[in-house]
Amino acid sequence: MMAQYLEIKSRHRDALLFYRMGDFYEMFFDDAIAASEALDIALTKRGKHAGDDIPMCGVPVHAAETYLLNLIRKGFKVAVCEQLEDPSEAKKRGSKSVVKRDVVRLVTPGTLTEDSLLDARRHNFLAAYAEIREEGALAWVDISTGAFHVMPCPLVGLGPELARLNPSEIVVSEAHDANWAEFVPDFHDRMTDLSRSSFDSTSAQTRLTELFKVSSMDAFGQFTLPEISAMGAIIDYLDITQKGKLPLVRRPVRESLRGAMQIDASTRRNLEISHSLSGSREGSLIATMDRTVTAAGGRLLERRLASPSRDVAVITDRLDAITFAIENTRTAQSLREALRKVPDMERSLSRLGLDRGGPRDLAAIRNGLTQAESIRDILVDAPVSTLIQQKMAFLTDHAELIDLLDAALVAEPPLLSRDGGFIAPDYDAELDECRTLRDEGRGVIASLQKKYAEMTGVQSLKVKHNNVLGYFIETTSTHAEKMLSAPLSETFIHRQTTANQVRFTTLELSELETKIHNAGGRALEIEKRLFEVLRMAILERAPAINDASGALAELDLITALADLAQNEGWTRPQVDLGREFLVTGGRHPVVERALRKQGGEKFVANDCALSDGHDGAAIWLLTGPNMAGKSTFLRQNALIALIAQAGSYVPAERAHIGVVSQLFSRVGASDDLARGRSTFMVEMVETAAILNQADDRALVILDEIGRGTATYDGLSIAWATLEHLHDVNKCRALFATHYHEMTSLSDKLPGADNATVAVKEWEGEVIFLHEVIKGKADRSYGVQVARLAGLPDAVVARAKSVLETLEKGQAESAANPKAIIDDLPLFAAIPPAPPPAAPKESKVEKKLAEVSPDELSPREALQLLYDLKAMI
Ligand code: ADP
Repeated sequence: MMAQYLEIKSRHRDALLFYRMGDFYEMFFDDAIAASEALDIALTKRGKHAGDDIPMCGVPVHAAETYLLNLIRKGFKVAVCEQLEDPSEAKKRGSKSVVKRDVVRLVTPGTLTEDSLLDARRHNFLAAYAEIREEGALAWVDISTGAFHVMPCPLVGLGPELARLNPSEIVVSEAHDANWAEFVPDFHDRMTDLSRSSFDSTSAQTRLTELFKVSSMDAFGQFTLPEISAMGAIIDYLDITQKGKLPLVRRPVRESLRGAMQIDASTRRNLEISHSLSGSREGSLIATMDRTVTAAGGRLLERRLASPSRDVAVITDRLDAITFAIENTRTAQSLREALRKVPDMERSLSRLGLDRGGPRDLAAIRNGLTQAESIRDILVDAPVSTLIQQKMAFLTDHAELIDLLDAALVAEPPLLSRDGGFIAPDYDAELDECRTLRDEGRGVIASLQKKYAEMTGVQSLKVKHNNVLGYFIETTSTHAEKMLSAPLSETFIHRQTTANQVRFTTLELSELETKIHNAGGRALEIEKRLFEVLRMAILERAPAINDASGALAELDLITALADLAQNEGWTRPQVDLGREFLVTGGRHPVVERALRKQGGEKFVANDCALSDGHDGAAIWLLTGPNMAGKSTFLRQNALIALIAQAGSYVPAERAHIGVVSQLFSRVGASDDLARGRSTFMVEMVETAAILNQADDRALVILDEIGRGTATYDGLSIAWATLEHLHDVNKCRALFATHYHEMTSLSDKLPGADNATVAVKEWEGEVIFLHEVIKGKADRSYGVQVARLAGLPDAVVARAKSVLETLEKGQAESAANPKAIIDDLPLFAAIPPAPPPAAPKESKVEKKLAEVSPDELSPREALQLLYDLKAMI
């Protein structure tokens, strides 16, 4: 057995090998050590190898999924090795013969399909990056839904694209350039190296044309060689991990690099789009916006917010659909009610494709398609928008499949096909017959108990069943005597004696049992065959089912966004090709909701008006004390642009947005110790990325840039950055800073304007009004904010007096060029040292003070020198 283990393990070195032994998956050697640590399970020993104990640990098969999930989350891959024959088969070959085993599946983060291992509302992408002669391409697939995409992608664009898709696994060629990692530092540990041959574009072409049964991939569009290579690598990796059972992969959809708003990884993190900074979904934009009622609708929202469009026509179509839903509330309500009953057809279809599905997946398709038809009926007479009209076309024409599934399946089938019971009565005559035989047999057996009780006179006699003996007759030992002796012993055959009971069978009973067993077995076989027939019927129509499912997800998202807009007072943005960014009464949806939950302060809505720089300012420089609401204001405007271009109404009274091509958001000095880069370095690398990339359609949000270094350095960097954005990038930007000195820049730069967040001072306390107004902050209120934070009174009082001194000093030295300094850097707050006590005058000094050198002759001077020297 060990020889077999080692042979299989040698073929799967980079995965943990789950080696099936009876009811357990066992792991040995280093695998056992790693797994026992990762799963916190006991490590034991078994036998010896080369003189040493073999470490071993195991997990029960019935609970394996949980352990698998745990291991995958911790970054392991798992090769599942099953027994390929019944152990009795192996015995037939000889007593020492080992049961045949092999790996049936390689479980990796990007290739999961089990519902229990997946998040229903999130995509699980597997990506591949290929480069041929410096031209790159990225392909990705969600095998749990079959969605397959590809796009040209230069290496510099890889980071933002991966940030958008957030794939669980990225396959790259083992021959890839070592410095790739620099471009995608966040995704390094999700990369899987694959052999060069997997990326070969010629074999990729063959692999793809065979999979999609076309003579050339041109049928789906014009693909570049790197695109073919990346797609081919994905298919090859699926083949390797699924051991030849290819999942359903939909025809590839080609995305263009210029179709979506570009948002890089740190902007996504910073704006908390799909995760909050703490890493959870709670507190993210998506959690605040998600009102969808189906899992597929939730995933669609995730996709939309991850890649807002730049195409005005696409955005307008989506907005029109929401407007329809708002104007036809009743229809929208019935739609949502009907959508609630739509199961996750995409994932069921994918499991059926991989032959991992069960009867409930068949039922999901039936229920989903049935629901699709009735949803179409709700819309059929309504004045729907273009987008809805297009989607409605996919909801019909499924009658034949629905009829088949309706007739064949029971209403609520069991989870597993193993025990049968999912095919409806009256569907298959032979199945009905077998079931009747089986059930009648059971009925007859039930009646036997009475018959035998009468025959023996033992009223307590019972007919029972267990897995070892099958059916048997049981009686207590006291009554058994009678049955063990003639004439009853001719009928009752002794099987077993336990502590208190004696068990018998009869010829009649075992014959009945065989009959039941045969009929039951035959019924199961028939059900299994019918399952396969139904599965194939579904797979034949897979593309149409996927279209229907996609259409339902779209309708779900439309009505969910309409519901959100109506309940939260969001409005339809005007999106066009201009360069305006005008928001009236804008709000930050997540902060607003958090404040409402706390039940205290209300969110203060704010306006923002950036124009194209000719007739107004494209850049706002925002000053104001900490805690006033600067960051909130910056982010809410970035989010409004993002939400609008995702095709949704926005949290504002009015919004007019000229399409934003790239969105950048940076916050000064956020620690990134995990990646071992200094705070300031991270800040500068990120700022450099913006200055090098932002085009004139970008929207840039910079929050406290330059905070991570000494005051003058920071101020100078912030200053130069703003000038560059203004003169070179010519983009729209919001720039928050605590360097008040920068407000004078607006006099110099025509396209920059000052804004501040208003505060009120009342009895020495500062009150935040959270209101953004034009102009500059008069002071920073740092001391007052410090008091609010609970700094001891003594420290606050001392800080106040130091501040007063410093401010006085600054006013007096106004002529001094040093007047341009920061508002109050901490190190400047150290009180000036008291003047040292005057030292006593020495004799030498006293003597020197009396001397007037002009009156001394050279001779006297020389004599004085001698005298002075004598004094020390
Ligand atoms: P800053 O960046 O100026 O330090 P923040 O944007 O972090 O300030 O805001 C501080 C706090 O003020 C937030 O946590 C929020 O609770 C509150 N706040 C910010 N903006 C508003 C607003 N417009 N209306 C109400 N409360 C706000």
